[in-house]
Amino acid sequence: MHKLIEKAKETHLLSKDELIELLCGDDTDTDLFAAADAVRRQYVGDGIHLRGLIEFSNFCRNDCCYCGLRRSNKIERYRIDEETIFKLAEHAACRMGLKTIVLQSGEDLYFDKEKMCRLIRRIKTLNTALTLSIGEKSLDEYQAYREAGADRFLLRIETTDQKLYGETNPGMSWEKRIECIVNLGRAGLEIGTGILVGLPEQTIESYADDILFFRQVNADMIGIGPFIPHPDTPLKNALGGSLKMALKVMALTRLLLPDINIPATTAMETLAPNGQLQALKAGANVIMPNVTLTQYRKHYELYPGKSTVGYTPDESLNAVKDKIASLGRFVAEDFGFHRRFQA
Ligand code: SAH
Repeated sequence: MHKLIEKAKETHLLSKDELIELLCGDDTDTDLFAAADAVRRQYVGDGIHLRGLIEFSNFCRNDCCYCGLRRSNKIERYRIDEETIFKLAEHAACRMGLKTIVLQSGEDLYFDKEKMCRLIRRIKTLNTALTLSIGEKSLDEYQAYREAGADRFLLRIETTDQKLYGETNPGMSWEKRIECIVNLGRAGLEIGTGILVGLPEQTIESYADDILFFRQVNADMIGIGPFIPHPDTPLKNALGGSLKMALKVMALTRLLLPDINIPATTAMETLAPNGQLQALKAGANVIMPNVTLTQYRKHYELYPGKSTVGYTPDESLNAVKDKIASLGRFVAEDFGFHRRFQA
């Protein structure tokens, strides 16, 4: 085995140059994925945590150049009402047995602090962990969500390349993004972040920086997705990311942050029919089955071809369970908190 993979497996430390060497190499991928799989088993075991994803609004005030929900895009916008969101969460928690609910949306100002806190308090009566993925908010809001019962928050840095971030997120600030991620921790939420892989001009060097950034901010969860160009966005003609590079960045993230939660992302599955299976064999230990009503899914088009469009919540869960069974792994029965947050 390559000496750097050996080193990462034992010490969970690599320098930027060492990360770059492994990201560039092609012949070491099989060993890299196997090492990440072994570290995953050693630190977080064979159980796979399921997080039921509810895409509750596609309104967004931002204009990210890669995202199909960007404000300039003329799409049919929807907001699921509070009662229906609660019913979906109830179905996921009480019928499907999911231990975490994830509420995700564009940055929709309609769901203000008061509305979100009310929803959080209601969902938390279901004996489930709760993750939010609703964008940049003030520290005061993050604290209020935490007090209302939210456990975790996902906010990807998208890229630590400040110039590229500025170009692909017009009107947004890279410093503010980082401050928000740090504030999640201050508010007592589990910190979820992550990146897109394959934005135009994104470099191997920047992936190395990204992985070191994940350690620096003490991330509890890291989501890595290949960028998939959306035809109605400024980046429609871009090449997009490869599954392989996304898996490599993910595997190295597992080696350097051995005990965190890492999802096999929907974008990986969208690029290849066995994308999530490959991820689960290269360091991932989480899947987020979509539990949004079928009628809304086609309007939550972050990128085209999203593998969950057209299915019902029960169908999505069954597909995920089949995958897990085919691997000889099992669905974890606990809430799946990062070690730092276990009571
Ligand atoms: N608005 C919230 C969450 C919704 S978007 C937020 O900004 O945090 C969730 C994630 O989808 C984003 O963080 C981004 O990394 C990913 N995404 C957006 N467009 C994409 C594309 N074209 N291909 C792949 N992933 C994309």
